[in-house]
Amino acid sequence: MIPIEEAQALVLGSIKPLGIERVDLFSALYRVLAEPVFSSLDFPRWNSSVMDGYAVRSEDLGVIPVTLPIVEEIAAGTIPQHPLGMGEASRIFTGAMMPEGADAVVIQENTTANPDGTVSILKSVNSGANMVSKGAHLRTGDLLMSAGTVLRAPEIGILSSVGRSFVSVYRRPVVAILSTGNELVSLGHELQPGQIIDSNQYALAAQVIEAGAVPRLLGVVKDDIPSLTQAITEALDADFILSSGGVSVGDYDHVKTALQNLGAQILFQKVRVKPGKPLTFALLNQVVYWGLPGNPVSCLVGFWLTVYPAIRKSMGYPESLQNFPVLPARLTAPAEGTGDRETYVRGVLYQQEEQLYFTPRSSHASGNLVNLQGINGFGIVPVGTEKVERGVDIRVLQVGTVQVR
Ligand code: AMP
Ligand code: MG
Repeated sequence: MIPIEEAQALVLGSIKPLGIERVDLFSALYRVLAEPVFSSLDFPRWNSSVMDGYAVRSEDLGVIPVTLPIVEEIAAGTIPQHPLGMGEASRIFTGAMMPEGADAVVIQENTTANPDGTVSILKSVNSGANMVSKGAHLRTGDLLMSAGTVLRAPEIGILSSVGRSFVSVYRRPVVAILSTGNELVSLGHELQPGQIIDSNQYALAAQVIEAGAVPRLLGVVKDDIPSLTQAITEALDADFILSSGGVSVGDYDHVKTALQNLGAQILFQKVRVKPGKPLTFALLNQVVYWGLPGNPVSCLVGFWLTVYPAIRKSMGYPESLQNFPVLPARLTAPAEGTGDRETYVRGVLYQQEEQLYFTPRSSHASGNLVNLQGINGFGIVPVGTEKVERGVDIRVLQVGTVQVR
């Protein structure tokens, strides 16, 4: 039995970022950029007004108010035709090109337009006011975005603004999911006596999608060594394989034997956590294998603690974004530990005013999947601690969005 930190280190030490692929911009969302992108344009592309108002030569505004003839109107998307001479102004709008000779914009709130085609400027401005010079934000050839950047909405917008409709990103792992158990049936089958629905398949697939990877649902495998060996063999074209069940010490727990028959290198089989102690991790040729516990709650905890960070690392996420955050939060009810194992107590993490709170769920039976509904965190009770009292701060693994109350 090894501590969770050691298990996580062994897992992440076995994972490298996968290959690179070129995808269209929308498919790049939540992926990690695998190439540096240099700007093909100046930002902005021209000396540009950032307000609605009047383009002027600031030196003409020595004595205020001053009335200037309006020589032209320049809307965004039009090209100025009239370079500003001394004592002239052009009507201009946000995003429009500054006319030659102008060095500032007076916002329209500080002007009065007169019926005779002139404008009275009521407030002077410094040179450069309310405009941005060509290339002030970024110049052609400058680095626009580094490799390793996680692409979210702003980054997609930035890449589109330099005309990129395709980008190189790290590949998403294909994650094969199989469930072991003679008692299991897939969704859509009528339940016979003694049967339950293979809920781990669906919960794991949803988790895989949330983490950004591609699930491959392989269904239920019978609890015997030949079936298991065949199912694992058929899954070997995936990047990762997740099985659930069959990793304890019962007579029907055959995952270990099947892996050994296939020549797998087993790195660990038990982790000092509750729930989730039986967790087999192995390397099988190029494929990384997790034998998660069958108990639905243990299975998900095992995923959150060891599979999620591996998926993120394989997708090129930087180290700082591979793991779920662990945050200190105040307990609103006691949290109980198991003494010899680090205990993950499911519950709800929320923020009220400036304080984070954590409300543990009352039942912690690892088979009670129903009780996992709506949780977004796990309070971590350290090894050797029987109970952490209400009002005391506890470390909480945040696996979902923190509520604001
Ligand atoms: P095991 O780890 O195979 O001993 O399974 C432990 C418990 O989890 C048993 O009660 C199983 O019936 C249940 N279980 C195993 N696999 C699944 C699954 N895929 N979906 C739902 N429950 C499961
Ligand atoms: Mg089983």
